[in-house]
Amino acid sequence: SRTFFVGGNYKMNGTLESTKKLLQLLKDAQLDSNTEVVVAPPAIHLLLAQEQLAGSPVKVSAQNAYHKDAGAFTGEISVTQLKDASIPWVILGHSERRTLFGESDELVAEKTKAALAQGISVIACVGETLEQREANESINVVVRQLDAIKKQVDDWSKIVVAYEPVWAIGTGKVATTEQAQEVHAAIRKWAVEKLGQSAGEGLRVIYGGSVAAKNCKELAAQPDISGFLVGGASLKPEFVDICNARL
Ligand code: 13P
Repeated sequence: SRTFFVGGNYKMNGTLESTKKLLQLLKDAQLDSNTEVVVAPPAIHLLLAQEQLAGSPVKVSAQNAYHKDAGAFTGEISVTQLKDASIPWVILGHSERRTLFGESDELVAEKTKAALAQGISVIACVGETLEQREANESINVVVRQLDAIKKQVDDWSKIVVAYEPVWAIGTGKVATTEQAQEVHAAIRKWAVEKLGQSAGEGLRVIYGGSVAAKNCKELAAQPDISGFLVGGASLKPEFVDICNARL
């Protein structure tokens, strides 16, 4: 069965001091040993996090990376550099990258392929905007985003798909369990069709968008929700309760 997965996406938040405190809290917490926990601090805190979490089962993720190995790409960090720093995970295609920084489905796919080629696991984000949901396009959008990655990537064993409806991110408007489960089931169906029975069944699809201690248990009980990608609440002590949603 699929190992439950909880990621904390710190986004562009925190100082050296506050990140250190947050990670120490996580290191000292009693976390469900059957749940995989990964935290994604801002790039400038990655090495600090890596050092501080040494010996802890909690792993570190970057929030983004560029697919070229090296060169004149001012401001970017390459997947090769993540590999060199032993960072095991990277979030790619987050909706904030797509909408605020213009990342296309193809670029996200390119980055995914490059990260996997370096042995880095990928949290690949998909999700529709409010406008797309109201036009009944949610599943089409998600399938289009996944198809773009599938075009470039055959082996999905090191990918976790994060379904994050854009209208639920940072808004306090969590998708209802039915809304989330419906899209998660559609992603499962896509995965079984496109990746084959066993890889499709094994693919973890996690939910993101206003996940909090108060709503995580109900979401976690859905058959196709294999975890969470948490923004705001990952900066608070309640993140521990979300990691323990299955207990
Ligand atoms: P919030 O949990 O703050 O809604 O953010 C979700 C998210 O974007 C995680 O990547």
